[in-house]
Amino acid sequence: MNEAKYIWMNGKLLPWHDAKIHVLSHTLHYGNGAIEGTKAYKTPKGYAIFRLNDHTKRLIESAKMTLINVPYTVEELNHAQIELLKANEFTGENVYLRPIVYLGYGVMGVYHKEAPVEVAVSAWEWGAYLGEEGMKKGIRLKISSFSRPNNKSNMGKAKAVANYLNSQMAKFEAVEAGYDEALLLDDEGYVAEASGASFFMIKDGEIITPPNDNSLASITQKTVIEMAEKMGYTVSRRRISREEIYIADEAFLTGTAAEITPVREVDARVLGAGGRGPITEKIQSSYFDIVYGRNPDYDHYLTYIN
Ligand code: PMP
Repeated sequence: MNEAKYIWMNGKLLPWHDAKIHVLSHTLHYGNGAIEGTKAYKTPKGYAIFRLNDHTKRLIESAKMTLINVPYTVEELNHAQIELLKANEFTGENVYLRPIVYLGYGVMGVYHKEAPVEVAVSAWEWGAYLGEEGMKKGIRLKISSFSRPNNKSNMGKAKAVANYLNSQMAKFEAVEAGYDEALLLDDEGYVAEASGASFFMIKDGEIITPPNDNSLASITQKTVIEMAEKMGYTVSRRRISREEIYIADEAFLTGTAAEITPVREVDARVLGAGGRGPITEKIQSSYFDIVYGRNPDYDHYLTYIN
């Protein structure tokens, strides 16, 4: 991975290789923690973090859902991320930020009330999550044999570390089968989300994306809905079944890391002309205009670090 100079850990900037934890850290054994994935882009006015406040708020809320009290405020963690970006003196087009709230060393056993809560933020330059070629030509998606766990036993809206076992199994299966990414259905057979992104499809000019009944309340999904409506498209939030995807005209994934990744094929069914569809392309280029600070209508979503 691309190393950087510093990692913010419990209030201090530490050299990258000094940001370590004890092997008996609670989260390592029992899997309770919360993460964020936030991104900064190099705009004409320097780096700007996209929707920083929304991401930090979601981090604290994810932790709350899984019974972890974060010992910092949203403002303090926003500030930490800005300071970290400045200190690292990045030069690339964009930088990924990974805040994590985890339970540290001192308590063993599943009951975690007394386990110390720790917070760290790392940042590094990260290329296209699903590949540069995928951004232009579209990726191949496999509907996973794993489904998103039922809401009675899982909290899919939390960006909880534990939820990524499900994602990881689905992703591995898809990649080993020769696909780029996995799409998970819910326990009733309707689309939930990809292993690390949200799903959109287009049919007869209508843009459709599922509600977050069993998926992360995605910030990029929300941005794309807002953008697409302003661009004049009809956007529907409703359940999507497998066979609808197979006859979609276009599809794409959205996420902070995935940005807008076109989907060209699902389970050996080629969508539309088998590449990046025309509406997808418009949405992708509008999204990049927004995050790179080229659309003043969305400037309120950008936190400039200087
Ligand atoms: N679903 C999952 C499982 C994810 O990991 C992500 C990436 N954070 C998303 C959806 C997209 O969320 P966001 O747009 O907030 O990055």
